[in-house]
Amino acid sequence: MPTESTFLLAGLFLLLAAAGWAMGRFGERDEEAAPPPLNIDYLKGLNFLLNEQTDQALEHFLRMVRVDDKTIETHFALGSLFRRRGEVDRAIRIHQNIIARPDLAAEQRDQALYSLAKDYLGAGLLDRAEKLFVRLAQGSRFQVQALEALCGIYEQERDWEKAIESGQRLEVLGGRSLALQIAHYHCELAEAAAAKKDYASARKSVKKAQSGRPRTMRGALTRAHIARDTDDNKTALKLYHRIIDENTYLIAEALPEIVSIYERENATAELESALQAMLKKNPEMNSLVAYTAIVNDLGGIPAIDDCVEQYMLNEPTLGEFVDLQQLTEGAEGSREFALAKVRGALSKLASATPRYQCQECGFSSQRLLWQCPSCRNWETQRPASRVQFDTVLQHSITDL
Ligand SMILES: [Zn+2]
Repeated sequence: MPTESTFLLAGLFLLLAAAGWAMGRFGERDEEAAPPPLNIDYLKGLNFLLNEQTDQALEHFLRMVRVDDKTIETHFALGSLFRRRGEVDRAIRIHQNIIARPDLAAEQRDQALYSLAKDYLGAGLLDRAEKLFVRLAQGSRFQVQALEALCGIYEQERDWEKAIESGQRLEVLGGRSLALQIAHYHCELAEAAAAKKDYASARKSVKKAQSGRPRTMRGALTRAHIARDTDDNKTALKLYHRIIDENTYLIAEALPEIVSIYERENATAELESALQAMLKKNPEMNSLVAYTAIVNDLGGIPAIDDCVEQYMLNEPTLGEFVDLQQLTEGAEGSREFALAKVRGALSKLASATPRYQCQECGFSSQRLLWQCPSCRNWETQRPASRVQFDTVLQHSITDL
């Protein structure tokens, strides 16, 4: 099927024919005697296009119209149009053709290299794109864009050392703070080291992550995980509690860890009093605790079970569908049975729906992702709130 870029190419051929006709000369034929009024080359090119042989038409165009000051913008425009249309191979062909010109001005060469690097990126040829961006980042008017692109490439390749280096250079050249982004690069290194049980390196990276401002809570969470994995339960508990205090939205990450540490130590009484103290300090946390418990299937802990029960009894949306008051009026056994049944259904609903959503682009996922895979922003995901949970309920209530 002819595409927008094919039409543009056809337009160019017609334009060239008209220009050639009117001026009697064009491109590499400048030095020759005036060509015949309607050059056979243009007709050949058009013929390729009419037969939908865009590649042949493009090759023909590139052979016919040499890159010079008058035509270079047309070449760039055609190349960028091909890339935007996803026809990356053709864009690459055009930009390589520009670069091949021996007497190209430095600025135009940089622009062509930058365009070619973007083509490679679009084609998923990260190695080739990286090479060109590294060259441009060394000194060109595309330095900042090249470093931004390099950060993106190193993120994809999970080459965090190089990402840190590019990020730091970008901060200097771009004149803006990338502290949060760079902190996450350090956290990635810390997590990778911790996975290999190299806790000394992991701690060093966490320290670097926490030195920047704004500070990422991921640093504290990684520190807590390291303490947990090195059996320093006291520090782990202190950190998990602090995370909940400072960033309640991370409760879903920290609360199950707190419960599991106390349970491993068979310290159920201590768990109960720690939870009571936490809820007393921050009563509005009840529904968050309930939601976390439902999502993570935490049960059998009085302080948490109370939160879940209150949540179910006071949840207006839930009340529209299930008369919990009536259900729970019976004998003690049937009341517990009714609540457990509703709780089980809620848990099932929660596990079937995304729990986190990016505040920038709306991308949602089951588990917390520090970098949004869609918009590539860092730390923009937040857990589903009550309202979103209600929406899910409205859609799926037939499952109850
Ligand atoms: Zn996003």
